[in-house]
Amino acid sequence: MKNIIFVAPPAAGKGTQCELLVNKYGYHHLSTGDLLRNVDPSTEVGKKVHEVMSSGGLVDDELVFSLIKEHLLTLDYHKGVLFDGAIRTLKQVELYDQLCVDLNMDRGHVIFINISEERAMARSLGRLGCSSCGKIYHKVNMKPEVEGICDVCGGTLVSRDDDNEITFKNRFNTYLEKVEPVLDYYRNRNELITVEAMDNKMDTFAQIEEVLNND
Ligand code: ADP
Repeated sequence: MKNIIFVAPPAAGKGTQCELLVNKYGYHHLSTGDLLRNVDPSTEVGKKVHEVMSSGGLVDDELVFSLIKEHLLTLDYHKGVLFDGAIRTLKQVELYDQLCVDLNMDRGHVIFINISEERAMARSLGRLGCSSCGKIYHKVNMKPEVEGICDVCGGTLVSRDDDNEITFKNRFNTYLEKVEPVLDYYRNRNELITVEAMDNKMDTFAQIEEVLNND
């Protein structure tokens, strides 16, 4: 399976689509947001990382890529990796290309999940995640069977620190400033595949599967 790089505004549903792809096809899932949230906040580096994340900015490119590389080396990465949010600046485009050369890895597909700012904000503010297994829910659109409890593992559902209105707006502005040039870069090279963030996650998933079936 080829790698897939997901590029999208915050809360467009990258994590949800990755979960569906992992369950159906067995990809590895590498979410830079998850890797960064797991950095120990009691260290000097961790403190800085958590500060940047809660302000809605972007963590240093080299630091993100050193974490990506470290994590990839623990995986059987030739079997196909979903890069969820890994490329958010033009510098990261370069670092990813270099990583592919270093690890002899195919670059794979670049999929953009398109969503308006209003809908992304509604998703962000209603998002819940399982504190134990990470499964994603939404207070209105993807409710668990029992309120506050994960259907899969029984863990407690929590909101992310950066899913509040002020941080969301900053994350969206960061997206416009830093990530849109990445989209233009891949678009100009005819390498950008666009799918739409639909109300039903399976409708977006079907669009992604169409890409995979055309391989
Ligand atoms: P979202 O895409 O919904 O904002 P993520 O969980 O993917 O959520 O990312 C959360 C935060 O982690 C981002 O707002 C940013 O601060 C940081 N982050 C994630 N990926 C990167 C990256 N590739 N480069 C820099 N910072 C990143």
